[in-house]
Amino acid sequence: MTTRRDFLASTAGIAFVGCSMLSARPTAAQARRQTIVAGRRAKVIDVHAHCAVPEALALMGLKIGGPQLRPDLVMATTAAERIAIMDAQGIDMQVLSINPNWYKLERDLAEKVIQVQNEKLAEACAAHADRFVAFASVALQHPDLAARQLEEGVKKYGLRGAAIGGSVNDLEISDPKFHPFWAKAEQLGVLIFIHPQGTGATEQMAHRFKGNGYLGNVIGNPLETTIALSHLIFEGTLDKFPGLKICGAHGGGYLPSYAGRNDWGCPTRPDLCPGGTHGPLKKKPTEYLTQMYYDTMVFSPEGIRHLAAEVGAGRLMVGTDYPYPWTKTMVDEVMATPGLSESDRIAILGGTAAKLLGIKL
Ligand SMILES: [Zn+2]
Repeated sequence: MTTRRDFLASTAGIAFVGCSMLSARPTAAQARRQTIVAGRRAKVIDVHAHCAVPEALALMGLKIGGPQLRPDLVMATTAAERIAIMDAQGIDMQVLSINPNWYKLERDLAEKVIQVQNEKLAEACAAHADRFVAFASVALQHPDLAARQLEEGVKKYGLRGAAIGGSVNDLEISDPKFHPFWAKAEQLGVLIFIHPQGTGATEQMAHRFKGNGYLGNVIGNPLETTIALSHLIFEGTLDKFPGLKICGAHGGGYLPSYAGRNDWGCPTRPDLCPGGTHGPLKKKPTEYLTQMYYDTMVFSPEGIRHLAAEVGAGRLMVGTDYPYPWTKTMVDEVMATPGLSESDRIAILGGTAAKLLGIKL
């Protein structure tokens, strides 16, 4: 028996077991990596995993192809390949989401696109109920419709919340226009996953992102999430809807990396802090960070350690950005994160996601 792919965390009692240790089992599950924490199998749930629905794209005149709309986004034809990769990476379940590209659609077409998408998401989950759940898609540019789609997504299709962009057609998601959607999300008690669209950058920023390095995404995407979450805090959206459950993609962008500065803007320039849409904030800006959730897409155990120190380990959930090849080693990174208790690690790997998304472990 080889141990070359086995990883033993430095923390006593925690072991990550690679697939090679299971090589004695001649079953289809042979290649499925098992994560063991404190001597017990820990279920790993990836809350940041993308897919796409060709039938919905066709309604918008779009089709699969190119670096963004990759063929492996399509569940109907590539689920087996996806599951094999999940097995190799030690991901037990993915929470599927579709990146919004329908925010400019008029109401009738947006309604059709979302209906097709949510139906297909439900089908994909039903076909492999032990491996996939999904966030609903919603037409957030029509907030009352989005609220209805969220409710229908949850109640009719069994979806576990919704995935939305970090801005909607140049409007911040803290804009009062979106209150009907936030009110419904709070009422239903479901998780809202906020993922940047890369369209939040101004023309000037897009100009500065040009050149080598994919900076429009590398910098632009976390920046959009940072701006979105900051507005939810500073405009008082989180005060008005205190029961909201929000998850910021990519570790919440830069917000938890440089949190302290948020507390000093208003003391430094009170003339620029007349109060949010709903008056003065009820808490210090950084205190709101600990009431949101974040994925672990920060690329290193030290990054995850810092995120946990800022927001609490109980606020983190595994994210991989599948199928975009940003990382294949997320489970290893969580297992190698210093300073976590065994229960912290179990929570990050899947315990917190299971509770938030109604997944039986
Ligand atoms: Zn993503």
